[in-house]
Amino acid sequence: MPGYELYDDIERKELMDVIQSGVFMRYGFDGARGGHWKAKELEAAICERFGTPYAQLTSSGTTALHTTFAALGIGAGDEIIVPTFTFVASFESILMAGAIPVLTDINETLCLDPKAVENNITPRTKAVMPVHMCGSMADLNALKAICKKHNLLLIEDACQAIGATYQGKCVGTIGDAGCFSFDYVKTMTCAEGGVVMTPHADIYKRADQYQDHGHDHIGNDRGAELHPYMGMNYRISELHAALGLGQIKKLDHFLALQRRNKKILADALKAIPQVTFRSIPDPEGDSASFLSFFLPDAATARAATQAIKAAGVDGAFYYFDNNWHYIRNWHHLKQRKAMMPLSPGILSQMPDYSKADFSASDHVISRNISLAIKIGWTEDELKQRAEKLYAAVSSVL
Ligand SMILES: *Cc1c(COP(=O)(O)O)cnc(C)c1O
Repeated sequence: MPGYELYDDIERKELMDVIQSGVFMRYGFDGARGGHWKAKELEAAICERFGTPYAQLTSSGTTALHTTFAALGIGAGDEIIVPTFTFVASFESILMAGAIPVLTDINETLCLDPKAVENNITPRTKAVMPVHMCGSMADLNALKAICKKHNLLLIEDACQAIGATYQGKCVGTIGDAGCFSFDYVKTMTCAEGGVVMTPHADIYKRADQYQDHGHDHIGNDRGAELHPYMGMNYRISELHAALGLGQIKKLDHFLALQRRNKKILADALKAIPQVTFRSIPDPEGDSASFLSFFLPDAATARAATQAIKAAGVDGAFYYFDNNWHYIRNWHHLKQRKAMMPLSPGILSQMPDYSKADFSASDHVISRNISLAIKIGWTEDELKQRAEKLYAAVSSVL
């Protein structure tokens, strides 16, 4: 998945524009910046490439999520349905907004199970937030229908699926709002950065204000601008945006390499009858940043992960034992360990995750292995990887 592997003069040129002008902030300093507006340019490039009318850059994917909740007016007392399999940022940002993450089972798409979503809707539910994990997408038509039926917002955490599409539209642009992360290991990187995309002008305007202390961004005198609402500082810098501007020019190349590389590895595993693959609602739209497959049970999946590592093939994730992406080891969340007191509303309303039953998710994740697809591999390396992968997985069956 990582765009950082193919860093070259295209990014260096964009970065040098900023380094030479010495204007590192995205707002103001009009004279000194020599015509360079990297954040604005990257937002325009994002709108164009992903087909969204509005894009607001932020300092990270996490702050993009928090900005989204604020822009949608989601806060204290509200519940957001999120999957048990995601990066911790999804629930961290919900708690930071003062809302409740309602963790919900996934299915073999590795994303939210629509039936489980419907079971978890309460009068306080405001939004459903599918997370398009490991490069591919949730069953968006089913989730859209649920949101419509229950009058809920649909927010896409598309941080891991940059460039994936669903029925011809880019994921992240299908719901009321969607986010990408451009952190260092994502499909394209700003080193650190994120974006909120939305089809709604009013939501965009609120996101624009929230990420810059509530500034209304009217006129040319920052100090004289008004603040219709309180906000935060979640701004991206010009330097980070410049890196992203270089990367987005190469995104289609990155995606083509991911798809080629994934296919070669998947073809090798298809020869093993006990291996099955993640279900992908729109296979054509897979961004191919991961190859996710299932073994018959937890024991074989764990053993296969060990064998893959022992064979010298890196990037195999056994998420059931992983600390960051699956409910099983989120002990800090289960024990409500925050550095500061959590609000009484959160404490009384949040389900007790130390006692919750996620056996349906366990059944999926305990059999899953996800292999990160890199883009810098040569064809020779790929061939060897495919052979080693086949041998390692076969050896445990
Ligand atoms: C990376 C990631 C985030 C957070 O992005 P950062 O830019 O690292 O803050 C959120 N959700 C998911 C699913 C991610 O993979």
